[in-house]
Amino acid sequence: MEYMAEENAAESVKTSADSGSTADLIGRMELLVRENNEAVRRIGRVDHVTLLPNRVQFLDDFARHSAACERPHLVLVALAEARHFNEILRALGHSYSEDFVREGAARLLGLLPAGSPVYHVSVLSFAFFAEGGTTAEPPPVVADIVTRFQEPIRCHGIPINSRIGVGVTPLDDTAAAANEMLRSALAAAQDSRRGFDGWAWYDRTSDDAHKRSFRILAKLPEALAAADRLALHFQPRIAMQRGNCIGAEALIRWTDAELGVVSPAEFVPLAETTALITPLTGWVIRHATRAVAGWQKTHPGLRISINISPKNLEEPEFVDSMLWQTEAAGVDPALVELEFTEGTLASNPRLMLQQLGRLRSRGFDIAIDDFGSGYSNMSYLGQLPAQYLKIDQSFVRTLDSDGKNRVLVRSIIDLAHALDYRVVAEGVETQSAYDTLAGWGCDEGQGYLMSRPLPEPAFLDWLHAGWRRKI
Ligand code: C2E
Ligand code: MG
Ligand code: MG
Repeated sequence: MEYMAEENAAESVKTSADSGSTADLIGRMELLVRENNEAVRRIGRVDHVTLLPNRVQFLDDFARHSAACERPHLVLVALAEARHFNEILRALGHSYSEDFVREGAARLLGLLPAGSPVYHVSVLSFAFFAEGGTTAEPPPVVADIVTRFQEPIRCHGIPINSRIGVGVTPLDDTAAAANEMLRSALAAAQDSRRGFDGWAWYDRTSDDAHKRSFRILAKLPEALAAADRLALHFQPRIAMQRGNCIGAEALIRWTDAELGVVSPAEFVPLAETTALITPLTGWVIRHATRAVAGWQKTHPGLRISINISPKNLEEPEFVDSMLWQTEAAGVDPALVELEFTEGTLASNPRLMLQQLGRLRSRGFDIAIDDFGSGYSNMSYLGQLPAQYLKIDQSFVRTLDSDGKNRVLVRSIIDLAHALDYRVVAEGVETQSAYDTLAGWGCDEGQGYLMSRPLPEPAFLDWLHAGWRRKI
């Protein structure tokens, strides 16, 4: 098509050159370029599925429309959640999914006054300006949209629950730039799915949390590249019956000049949603294996535990890179334990089991971390090639005060032993918790009673000082 258009253009230019003056020719060429530009400009401003004006057009029209409305609000309607839409796409294909979006757009248009512009701002989202709201009440059309979209969207006879999100943000005098308002309305539409009203105002607090997540993710690559922003701390792990230290868990620490101390409980899950989890875990493995190699001179046999994300197991080269890194550090894989949480099997159990089996066959120990904190599916306990089960600290920390947790912890220890696991208690904070756990046959423990996670020099000092269980 494009080639045809070019050929025709060249043909018409040739004809004109044959028959007219140079000025004619230039004039015709300018006209052609202008026409083409206008066509391209128009194409770039229309969504090809619904033929509604798109986000580019929205950004251009924003100032004009928001000034023309009385007490204007920006409303964003997201037709479905991305995951749900992907399921529709997978089950019914692209052309059906596009029909679904067109049906949704048509329903929305039917609820709005004729002629009021609706913008198709992303695959599933539509934005428009609405009048008639106050700072306390959204424009009346919002309630109509929520009610009408409770009915499934019927497409080729198949009813689909749309599960829309509706976000509303007032456009007052201080209204920010168009892009920012659109982002706020989208954040509100996502928030709306957490409640029962079906719509939500833009909420700065929840949005601030999102912005913080964004800043964390934007700054993490810098931290990974710098020499001194990230650090590993080591928390001693104790053999509970004898009371001696047998290894340590490597726990990452990050201090940023602007953000301050950022907890791994905050930034690791965020990194897991992006490709950053690969270099992050790589950084930890590199530093942890170097550390454990150094310890062998003074404390032969001292082991290291490293937390690994399920996302890392999805990397085909992960097992090889683990082997390569331990070899480069001169460490026997038998000194390295890899900790995975219960959720690891959730997404793709077959692949995960296969990868864990490969790691095990190369000599690494495998531990199930935070056992009991997720939605435990007992059936996997019999299948995992793991040797260690770490009871989540939430059970252990409350052992002294919570009778039900005592029953649970004791049962977990018995069950795990019956399945040939060694049991590790996390979060041992008191001597009485230690004694109770040791009395129930718990094999190993970690917790503030013995030591908090420490920078490497302090950990080595702690080792030399020789912590012993008080009897
Ligand atoms: P985790 O792997 O379960 O690590 C144990 C967490 O419990 C650590 O928190 C540790 O400081 C804390 N803890 C240990 N003993 C006690 C105690 O007696 N009382 C209390 N209240 N807490 C105790 P931290 O270092 O903040 O790490 C939180 C989580 O972040 C870790 O939980 C792990 O899931 C993740 N994480 C930390 N470092 C890494 C890492 O290098 N890679 C990955 N993928 N995740 C990491
Ligand atoms: Mg852990
Ligand atoms: Mg844990």
